[in-house]
Amino acid sequence: MISAKNVLDAVGDLTLVNEGIGELKNQALVSSRSLGHDIGIWNDKSTLVRNGRSYRSSSSKCKKCGALVFVNAGPTPDSNEVRGPAIKSKCR
Ligand SMILES: [Zn+2]
Repeated sequence: MISAKNVLDAVGDLTLVNEGIGELKNQALVSSRSLGHDIGIWNDKSTLVRNGRSYRSSSSKCKKCGALVFVNAGPTPDSNEVRGPAIKSKCR
């Protein structure tokens, strides 16, 4: 795991930020699987670039119950986000 300071130093590196979404998807998969969900194919959104920084997001849903999960890679790791019902409540 890289420290927050190292990541902040590298914030201008779009490659790093773009790769961050894979890590977020892994976090989302681990969290949702622990609740019994079976997450399907990710639906990547186009990259939003603002002030030279890229923001990537993606979503997916459980193949069994349809619970959604969203990941957003912000310009800094502190602004990364994994959210959605698939990481909050158990699969039915
Ligand atoms: Zn489910």
